[in-house]
Amino acid sequence: MASITNAFEMAQRQFDHVAEMLRLDPDVRELLRWPSREYHFRIPVRMDDGSIRSFQGYRVQHNDARGPNKGGIRFHPAETVDTVRALATWMTWKCAVVDIPLGGGKGGVIVDPATLSIGEKERLVRGFVQQIHKNIGPRNDVPAPDVGTTPQMMGWMMDEYSKLVGQYTPGVITGKPLGGGGSLGRTEATGFGVIYTVREALKHLGLESSDCRAAIQGFGNVAQYAAIGFTETLKGKVVCVSYWDRDDRCAYTVSNEDGMDPHLLMEATDQYGSIDKAKVKAAGYTLEDGDAWITKEAEVLIPAALEGQINSESVNQISDKVRVIAEGANGPTTPEADKVLEERGVFVIPDFLCNAGGVTVSYFEGVQNDMNFYWTREEVIQRLDTKMSHAFTDVLDMTIKQKVFTRDAAYMVAIARVVKAMELRGLI
Ligand code: NAD
Repeated sequence: MASITNAFEMAQRQFDHVAEMLRLDPDVRELLRWPSREYHFRIPVRMDDGSIRSFQGYRVQHNDARGPNKGGIRFHPAETVDTVRALATWMTWKCAVVDIPLGGGKGGVIVDPATLSIGEKERLVRGFVQQIHKNIGPRNDVPAPDVGTTPQMMGWMMDEYSKLVGQYTPGVITGKPLGGGGSLGRTEATGFGVIYTVREALKHLGLESSDCRAAIQGFGNVAQYAAIGFTETLKGKVVCVSYWDRDDRCAYTVSNEDGMDPHLLMEATDQYGSIDKAKVKAAGYTLEDGDAWITKEAEVLIPAALEGQINSESVNQISDKVRVIAEGANGPTTPEADKVLEERGVFVIPDFLCNAGGVTVSYFEGVQNDMNFYWTREEVIQRLDTKMSHAFTDVLDMTIKQKVFTRDAAYMVAIARVVKAMELRGLI
């Protein structure tokens, strides 16, 4: 099989593989391989120096059979429409596997947000909404933050949409700031969700979490709360994290065999994810090459940065101590690497199950916006744990019943739910 670098090709191949195993009707298969709608637009922005720059934006809606399309908006200099298509597709499977009544969507803008002033960022996000407001809304497509976008940006988007439609509409966007329609627990939701699935996987494998070490790629939103959950909830040790250094334009791994304090690391991290080297060295931690995270001796690997990181080459560097790979990132493992991991008996918690905590609390946010009644943080976190644990059990049961790889089992659970909704609605 040729190596895959295009995320959408990867999403389609994963789907095709399971569609074949399920002997899915060819017409239904063709329908689900592609997004149902996509919008491409230019966003003109007046820059602080008076010039006008225009940015390329996308919104892709994959499938809304189970409910409104749902998915974040990425601001990234290397964004491509195929990445947005892949992410929209994975959102459909993600919402289905955790059984929330939403479909799949995703947005993107080709921009490096770190190069914009606060005013330029605000004008860009308001411009995004001006271009797409007729095609989003609480009942048809609900965006959210993703890489490069923040709760404050979601607040501006909600405000712009509310002005354009003439009424306060908090449910149009999730991931809003607290006090501006946001939900308690949203910031930590994805990382904590990762850890609830890790807890269930270790239980299934008969491993004591307090005896386990985790090696993490990335130290952004997902990785930070996964690190906190791994050390504080599971009582394990985080032996390494990695990050992209903006100044040096390369990645580094920060490690310590005896475990690291995630709060110390968070204090040493700036808003764009670069870690202060002097602070971590003063704590006695070691700084190494960015690729070193994957070679570490640990029972749990948590890729929580980018797509395609565990591939046909890097998979062979994974230590034989690794028992669980918890995919915090979207699409971190290629199909070629999946084969190797399956043969080696590594328990992979597939991305669209593992990192579904964020969309689950986004769904809770929309529910609270609709009720205009807000839950406590404890209620949100408890409901998140229940949802993630049930979803894990559904996938594990399918893995055991069908004797298949966990990713295939997760697809089987998700595809069955989407196909059933399409049948019930008379769409197929
Ligand atoms: P983020 O921007 O907060 O963090 C990304 C991290 O990756 C940063 O620490 C950055 O330094 C690091 N990084 C970038 N390039 C790297 C490299 N080459 N080597 C090592 N580290 C590198 O993003 P996030 O929200 O934590 O998202 C991370 C992944 O999780 C993405 O794939 C995203 O789609 C996925 N995800 C996020 C959420 C969420 O709620 N935030 C939900 C589901 C999935």
